[in-house]
Amino acid sequence: MTSLDDLPVRDDLRGKNPYGAPQLAVPVALNVNENTHPIPEGVATDIVASLAAAILGVNRYPDREFTELRTSLADYLGYDLSPENLWAANGSNEVLQHILQAFGGPGRSLLGYVPTYSMYSILASGTGTRWIGAERDERYELTPETAVAAIQREQPDIVFLCSPNNPTGTPLSLETIEAVYAASTGIVVVDEAYAEFSTTGEESALSLLPGRPRLLISRTMSKAFAFAGVRVGYLAADPAVIDALRLVRLPYHLSALTQAAAVAALRHSGEMLRMVDEIIGQRDRIVDGLRDLGYDPFRTGSNFVLFGGVDDPQATFRALLDRGVLIRDVGIPNSLRVSAGTTAETTAFLDAMAALNSNA
Ligand SMILES: *Cc1c(COP(=O)(O)O)cnc(C)c1O
Repeated sequence: MTSLDDLPVRDDLRGKNPYGAPQLAVPVALNVNENTHPIPEGVATDIVASLAAAILGVNRYPDREFTELRTSLADYLGYDLSPENLWAANGSNEVLQHILQAFGGPGRSLLGYVPTYSMYSILASGTGTRWIGAERDERYELTPETAVAAIQREQPDIVFLCSPNNPTGTPLSLETIEAVYAASTGIVVVDEAYAEFSTTGEESALSLLPGRPRLLISRTMSKAFAFAGVRVGYLAADPAVIDALRLVRLPYHLSALTQAAAVAALRHSGEMLRMVDEIIGQRDRIVDGLRDLGYDPFRTGSNFVLFGGVDDPQATFRALLDRGVLIRDVGIPNSLRVSAGTTAETTAFLDAMAALNSNA
């Protein structure tokens, strides 16, 4: 049998590992920060009607400029954005890849503050961009001073700021984002995949867009919108940035079915986001519950919680899995990450953690 090492794969990809969160069939899956609530049935019916209409036209290529979808996204975001400010792709991962294809590549660098979203370094290697992992402050916070010091030292071409940060949940202040933008001469991306779950009172970085043509804000329909399986991510930026992304996307990259489903879902954004408050409530329950059990949950503005104080993360991960609860070992010492689920799922997780504690 041929192994990967036998193939003439690119030298810079040798020894690398693909993205690999386990996909297991378990009763309680709280491992990849999905919205565990299904979309409301009335919305689903409307989406299906739109898909039925769209399928009749799939002998033709879809609208390459996905104008209706960009209009819907601009309306959803507000902040006086127009369709010319919007971009979308098959998940925000593809949006981020477009950014690296257009602004990164061989001889260029991408800086992020670790630990952060594991896909950033994987997307960097896929596009031949040099990855720089810079330090955070205590408890994964990121002050303007610490952030700017790394920019001045490394002079990166691109900076990815994850706000709130995955896998730590840490909210990021607009002050830090402004300071990073002012200190850099390159592209600054704020990945707001979890923005809808933020409860810190901090405004979205969308408020910083006017007058900052190198600032890009990426969002996704995967998390708050309960749309992970459809694959729709998007971005707001200066129209010139959007023109740059057009240079690298594949023609017709958003299928007619994807566009139809997303436009229909955005017609019901209020209902689609109905579960967000409920999920925030479950997240806060996890924080309190874990603290009561003697663990050390970190500050979070997202739909998941990173918690420390775990003696043997692999052992705890496996013991939970034996009880049908899948969470995530993100490789941070003495820590595990769990997504907020429905009330029942969250209870199953907290009960399992309590049972492990009393067995110890
Ligand atoms: C989940 C996640 C995404 C979203 O990915 P999609 O490709 O849109 O599903 C983006 N950024 C971060 C930090 C995430 O955690």
